[in-house]
Amino acid sequence: MKIFFLKRAMRAAVVASSVSLSLAGLCMAETPIKTIPWNGYVGAVSFTFDDAYANQVENLKPILDDLPDVHVTFFLTSMGNGLTQNAAGFAALAKAGNEIGNHTQSHPHLTGASDSELEEEIVKFANTIESTLAEEGADVKVTSLATPFCENNDKIKSVIAKRHFINRDCGWHGRNDWDTEPDWMSLQAKIWTRSGATVTEMLSALDTAAFIGNFEGANPWDVQVKGGSWLVVLNHGVTDDAGDDYAIDPSDIKKIFEHAVENKLWTAPFGTVGAYHRAHFVVDAATSTLTDDGFTVKWEIPNEHMPKSVPLRVKIDTKSVGENAVVEQGGKKLSPESDGSYIIEFMAKELKVRKSSSNDETIALPKSPFANQGYSKYTIFDMNGNCLGETNGWTIPANYPKGTYIVRAEAAGLKAMTRKRIK
Ligand SMILES: [Zn+2]
Repeated sequence: MKIFFLKRAMRAAVVASSVSLSLAGLCMAETPIKTIPWNGYVGAVSFTFDDAYANQVENLKPILDDLPDVHVTFFLTSMGNGLTQNAAGFAALAKAGNEIGNHTQSHPHLTGASDSELEEEIVKFANTIESTLAEEGADVKVTSLATPFCENNDKIKSVIAKRHFINRDCGWHGRNDWDTEPDWMSLQAKIWTRSGATVTEMLSALDTAAFIGNFEGANPWDVQVKGGSWLVVLNHGVTDDAGDDYAIDPSDIKKIFEHAVENKLWTAPFGTVGAYHRAHFVVDAATSTLTDDGFTVKWEIPNEHMPKSVPLRVKIDTKSVGENAVVEQGGKKLSPESDGSYIIEFMAKELKVRKSSSNDETIALPKSPFANQGYSKYTIFDMNGNCLGETNGWTIPANYPKGTYIVRAEAAGLKAMTRKRIK
């Protein structure tokens, strides 16, 4: 009987190894990582400020100091000595977590520039910005550019890509969709001027990007936008001087910032959101390779001038490894968030998923940054705005099909909050 049992066991082992071989073939083609859109927020907005004006430092710094969740981008130029005269102010803004980008040395019409002028204006000036701010004690890596006058062509783009991973041009609505890969050397932005848009219109542009609105009863789809997009805004000065049409009142920009934060828009610099967006097209397409105790996923960096660190909030399909799968990068174990997602480092270029061993400690679940026990009513909508019913929290019930949903949370005394959820 014992011999018979051993024979059975050996036969089972042979079958198992041939199954795992065929699975290995299948797994090569699978993409186990799925990035959560816009870092888990309903959408994203990047406020960018051009031309290195002193009034940006004077009037924006106090507003930004009061709003720890808002970080913006300053595109600097030496036009009007903006960089040198305001270097200390921009260094302070950089140290507070804002992005410093390149807006070319002399703000020329780049379409008329020679090859060597393009090098001077774009590549060399990026280095000048870094060294100038370093003298003021700010360790800045310039990764984004904004073309002056939004003038661009293929020759200019090829020079930009030598020193920057992303470039901002102008456009009509300034929104970018999660699943559509844009031209990274020509991202669109919406220009705000004093006479061009009222504050109400600016707030409405944010709501459209965020998919925010009271869609009970009314038809929220009149705007024909599915929401959850990334809005890029192009601003210039920040002053209450009504004669400066390219500027925005400090009190208005404060209102706009607060509106973005209250409505759970990811209010982050152009290069930060751009790197997250660009990285997701790479990671979400990366295939896995089986290892002895799990699998490895590797990917390449699409442009060497991306920020030093690009954290991505992702879902990882660890089913094949079992219930207590361990996710590691660079030999360091990653703890899952309360919703089961992980924050991975894109610039690490790989991650490993393996079975847990007896040496692994138990991982405590950190509290979700969005957890708010104050809400009592949660309503689920599909992406077409149809109300599907109620739920117990930010979660989508298990019997719903896989997909993207919108959850709206409400409670007396609390501002209603709308979030996009992926199941
Ligand atoms: Zn400009």
